[in-house]
Amino acid sequence: MSNQIPESVQSTDADQTVTAVVVEKVNLLGLSQSKLESFFESIGEKRFRATQVLKWIHQMGVDDFDDMTNISKALREKLNRLAEVRAPEVLEQLDSADGTRKFLIKVTGGSIIETVLIPDGDRGTLCVSSQVGCALDCSFCSTGKQGFNRDLTPAEIIGQVWLAAKSYGQFGEDRPRIITNVVMMGMGEPLLNFDPVVDSMNLMMHDNCYGLSKRRVTLSTSGVVPALDKLNGVTDVCLAISLHAPNDALRNQLVPINKKYPIAMLLESAQRYIEGLPDNRRKITIEYTLIRNVNDRPHHAHELVELLKDVPVKINLIPFNPFDLVDYERVSNTMLRTFKDILVNAGFITTVRTTRGDDIDAACGQLAGTINDRTKRSERYRAAAQAQEEPVKIIDS
Ligand code: SAH
Ligand code: SF4
Repeated sequence: MSNQIPESVQSTDADQTVTAVVVEKVNLLGLSQSKLESFFESIGEKRFRATQVLKWIHQMGVDDFDDMTNISKALREKLNRLAEVRAPEVLEQLDSADGTRKFLIKVTGGSIIETVLIPDGDRGTLCVSSQVGCALDCSFCSTGKQGFNRDLTPAEIIGQVWLAAKSYGQFGEDRPRIITNVVMMGMGEPLLNFDPVVDSMNLMMHDNCYGLSKRRVTLSTSGVVPALDKLNGVTDVCLAISLHAPNDALRNQLVPINKKYPIAMLLESAQRYIEGLPDNRRKITIEYTLIRNVNDRPHHAHELVELLKDVPVKINLIPFNPFDLVDYERVSNTMLRTFKDILVNAGFITTVRTTRGDDIDAACGQLAGTINDRTKRSERYRAAAQAQEEPVKIIDS
C-alpha cells in the first residue's frame, strides 16, 4: 500500500499518525525569464529550458506540461510533480454591446478582480489590474471606495493577459493578435506592487512571450514618487500620470497621496523617468478626469497649461464615469469641448477618452470587483451613503 501515498505525504510519527507535508507547486505562469532559468537550475536542469517553457505558456497558451512536446517525458513528469501553470479562475465574462469584454476573476482569498478588453478598430487594449482593491482612496474612483485586500501575484497579473488571449483564441502560430496594447489602469496602484508589476510588464514585452512593443504597454500611477524613481532601468514602458487637478489644493482633495508627494515632485520624477529612457523623445501621458463643477472650469484648463508648459506631455481627458457612493457628475459636453480647446490652442496634443463598456460597468473608474476589504473603508462609505449623508463633498479651489 505504501506506494499509494503521494511523495508529498510522509508517515513520520512513531504512533503511526500520518503527517501531511504538502509541497506547494511552483506556479511557472508568473516567472520572468531569469526566475524561470533559476527555477530550472534549482531542479538540476539546464537554463535553456526556460525559453522553451516560456514559449509554450505565453505563445502557445499551454498550461499542461504533457502538451509541451519538445520536452522529454522524464522532465515533463518532474515538472508535473514540482510545478504547475495555473491562471486565475474566470468567474464570469461579460460582453458589452460595443464589443468591450469584462472578465470577473476570482483570486485566492475569495475576492473578485476585473480585467477589461476594449477593441477599437485594429487595436485591442487590455486594462489590467495590479491589486485587489486600492489603498489610496481617490475620491472619484470606484476601486478606491472598495477598500484594499492585497497585492496581486505576478501569476495573477500576467494571468489576466494569458486568459484574455485564450478567450480570443490568440495563442498559437499565425493567429491574429487581438491584444495589441496593455494599460495598467485596472484596479489598484501598480507602483505599490512594484516587482510583480515590473516582472509582468516585462513578460508582456518579451519576444518569447507576448512580444508587445514598449510603446504599447503603459503604466498609470497616481504618483507614488519613490517607486516611480525606482522604475528607471528596470523597465521602459510608457508612463501615464493621473493628475486630475492643476494645483495641490484641489489635487489633495481628489488624490490624497498628493499630500505626501505634491505635483511638482511628481512631475519632476516623471520627467526623470521619461528622459532616462533610451528613446528619450517619448512624452508623459497626463490623465485628467473631468468632474462637473469640480475641476472642469476654464480657469482650471488655463492653470493646467501654465503648469505643464515646459513638461513633455500629451493630455488625455477622461469624462468622469459615475457610480454609486459618490455624488460627482460627468462633465458636460460643452465644458469638455471648451476645456479641450484651451489645451489644444496652447499647443498640447489632447485626446478625449471615449467611454466604453458602460453597460457592463467596465468604463474607467467603474471597476469595483468584490473586495474582502481589510481596511473596512467600503463599509464606511456604504454606511454613509445609506444614512444619506453627503459622502464626499469637494470644494472647488
Ligand atoms: N491607480 C492607477 C491606475 C488605475 S486608475 C492610477 O490611479 O493611475 C486608471 C485611471 O482611471 C486613472 O487615471 C484614474 O484616475 C481613472 N479613473 C478612476 N476613477 C474614474 C472615474 N470614476 N471616471 C473616470 N476615470 C476614472
Ligand atoms: Fe487607486 Fe488609481 Fe483608483 Fe486612486 S484612481 S483609488 S490610485 S485605482
